[in-house]
Formats: sequence, structure tokens, C-alpha cells
Amino acid sequence: MVAEQLIPHGVTDERVLRVMSEIPREEFLTGRARRHAYEDRALAIGCGQTISQPLVVALMTQSLSLRPESIALEIGTGSGYQAAILSRLCRRVITVEREPALAELASATLGRLGFINVEVAAGDGSLGWPADAPYDAILVACAARQVPAPLIDQLAEGGRLILPVQVIPEEPQDLRLYARNEGVVTYRSLFPVLFVPLRPG
Ligand code: SAH
Repeated sequence: MVAEQLIPHGVTDERVLRVMSEIPREEFLTGRARRHAYEDRALAIGCGQTISQPLVVALMTQSLSLRPESIALEIGTGSGYQAAILSRLCRRVITVEREPALAELASATLGRLGFINVEVAAGDGSLGWPADAPYDAILVACAARQVPAPLIDQLAEGGRLILPVQVIPEEPQDLRLYARNEGVVTYRSLFPVLFVPLRPG
């Protein structure tokens, strides 16, 4: 997966490549999806949701420039795989999932595999998670019409936020990387992506 899918497509960060090779993606999947764990595609995880393609997980993670002391927020826990990747590159991860059944399963999977610095919360991620704000990194794994204001509010100085924005209905989404520098928030577009929608609470 690392040699064929990630390195040739722009994943250059050695730490990201290492954790992607160490964390077993199949452990976050169930049933028939398990045998496809290392293929270059998104896979079903239940409740009509999907785990992202490994390349997208790697590129999104890399863009956040995590440091060992960073605190990260993820919106859309899904299987917990992306949270697991983030957790190996920073101090602490808080991840919010709207579907209680998925939150419970992801929490159990992360616990079983020994990811002790990840906390899974069930709730509406468009509100962020004010209790532990501000965050050095925020990763949104579902597509919003626009960036939810609470997430910008909860972004630390020098922090980065990545999310897919559904600019035109039915079209691919625009993956945007926001940064807060000296109080000013700016963004740049990375590439088109296909995520499930961020749904209201
Ligand atoms: N990062 C996940 C994949 C996420 S799929 C992984 O690694 O497996 C997107 C997830 O966002 C779905 O599980 C969906 O239920 C969740 N979601 C959608 N709207 C949400 C909201 N408002 N708040 C929190 N989670 C939401």
C-alpha cells in the first residue's frame, strides 16, 4: 500500500508513511470489507458510511503538519481508522461521531488495539468540541456546504483545518486546507474529493 499507492502520489512525510504501514486497516473493517483492506478505495463501514481511501487519509494527515505535542480534533470518526493514524503523530485526539452505533464500535476498536490517546465522543461535530479547544489540527471527514464557524473558532493560532467543501451539489467536493496565522484565517484548495455529507445534529 505504502510503496504502490502513497509514495507515487505525493505522500512524502516519513512519519505519515511509517504509521500508515504500521496500523492494520483491516482491524477497522468488518465482514466482507476486510479482505479489501489494502485496496486503493473507500470501503463501507456500516450505517451507510465509508472509510476513506488510504491515499486520501495519508494526504489529509500530511497536510496538518502534526507535532508530537499537538492536540487534534476529528469530525466523523466512522471506523476510527483516521483517528488512529492521527493519534500516532500527536499528543491527543478527540473525535466526534454523529451515529452512536459507529461511535461505540470505533471506541471499542481503538481500545482493543491500545490507542489510549484517542477519545471518541457521540454528537454533532458541526459544533466542534468546545471542551478541549483550541486545537492545533482539525480534520473533517464529511463534506460541508461551508466551513462550520465553531470549527474556525476552535482552531489554535498556527493551527490547520482540513475539510471537504460541497461547493456545487452533486459535484466532487473541494478539499480545503485552512490555516490561522496571526489571527487571520486563510485557505487554499488542494484537490477534488468524494466524502459522505456532514449531516445536521
Ligand atoms: N474518518 C472515518 C471515515 C468517516 S466517514 C474513518 O476513518 O473511518 C464520515 C463520518 O462522518 C460518518 O461516520 C458520519 O456518520 C459522520 N458524520 C456525518 N455528519 C456528522 C456530524 N454532523 N457530526 C459528526 N459526525 C458526522
